Amino acid sequence: MFDIQEIRSQFSILDREVNGKPLVYLDNAATSQKPNSVLDVCHAYYTELNANVHRGIHTLSQLATEEMELSRRKIQKFINAEHDFEVIFTKGTTEGLNLISYILTQKLQKDDEIIISYLEHHSNIVPWQLLCERTGAKLRVIPIDENGILQLDYLDQFLSEKTKVVSVNQVSNALGIVNPIEEIIAKTRKNSDAYVVIDGAQSAPHFNVDVQKLDCDFFVFSGHKMYAPMGTGILYGKREILEALPPFHGGGEMIATCSFDGTTYAGLPFKYEAGTPNVGGNIALGAAVDFMNSVGHENIQNHENALLEYAQRHLLEIEGLKVYGEKAKRTGVVSFNLEGVGISSDVGMILDKMGVAVRTGHHCTQPIMNFFNIAGTVRASFAVYNTFEEIDILVEGVKKAQRMLS
Ligand SMILES: *Cc1c(COP(=O)(O)O)cnc(C)c1O
Repeated sequence: MFDIQEIRSQFSILDREVNGKPLVYLDNAATSQKPNSVLDVCHAYYTELNANVHRGIHTLSQLATEEMELSRRKIQKFINAEHDFEVIFTKGTTEGLNLISYILTQKLQKDDEIIISYLEHHSNIVPWQLLCERTGAKLRVIPIDENGILQLDYLDQFLSEKTKVVSVNQVSNALGIVNPIEEIIAKTRKNSDAYVVIDGAQSAPHFNVDVQKLDCDFFVFSGHKMYAPMGTGILYGKREILEALPPFHGGGEMIATCSFDGTTYAGLPFKYEAGTPNVGGNIALGAAVDFMNSVGHENIQNHENALLEYAQRHLLEIEGLKVYGEKAKRTGVVSFNLEGVGISSDVGMILDKMGVAVRTGHHCTQPIMNFFNIAGTVRASFAVYNTFEEIDILVEGVKKAQRMLS
């Protein structure tokens, strides 16, 4: 049973008003709201459990450690990792991608190649550019067509024994396009020995992710886009690969022995979790997984796809409105502009006056904006608690913006 009002009642923030109007929160691709169950876990952590993990012999330290490790196992199940120690807590996708690009440094030489796509977030571009600067490797970029669809015949051309990394997102944050990562991974495995990295920041909130079935080497995502607190995230890596690669940060918690003659590293996952982690946040990420499981992946996806289909259909009834990636397979996001009318932030400001929160601008994906020769788009993005009535308000708001700006 999917009861939208019951789901909404779990998110107190959805009851508030903005500019005298009920909040219509359609900026979920930037960050989702958090259900009360997740907020309660944060509060309970600091009122009943707060202690540092993995080090204290005292009761609170042990309880906090147990809760965080329980959360790790929930996330292991959530992405179907083979081992719980393949699940590394990070502070988000950005940290995960920087970590991976850093620990691969020794694996690359001059003229090796790293393949990414045109649809990447800046955080899946810049860390690889930095890796290229450190090693002399070259970046190759899979192009898109006018619908934003990846041109995979270029991937066929690019792949060779020089390819050391292929890193792509499963879902584009700017356009919501679902990329055929199964096919990308299969092609990569067939034609190279490259490490496969998947940016799952926009897929983990919407899909059932199965890292073993995907057969990716790394999979990263952010907690805050899937109902968990800010400053939480996950890096999944295959056991043999994480065991063979060097650490990222050095410090407490990540050593087995430390002396001035040399240091040996702790086993997984601690080798990659130097310093005091965000214990309360990491526990709350487990509660966010519980929330998603309680709703059910199929319910989440069906509802969000229905919202997207409804929003696109009604937005396209507006004359002069262009949806980017209109014909591509998408999830959770509709990105559009009113042609010849103002700029995206003008539309966003008018919508805000009506209580509607959308993102405007380049969405940390300037190459996509350059491709379409625009400065930005208006992006409405959906979560499980959004309603068809809210989309009606969005569409009315966009019509009003068009009248006011033309
Ligand atoms: C949000 C996002 C990122 C960056 O995530 P942070 O939580 O800001 O670290 C990377 N890639 C995609 C596709 C995203 O949507």
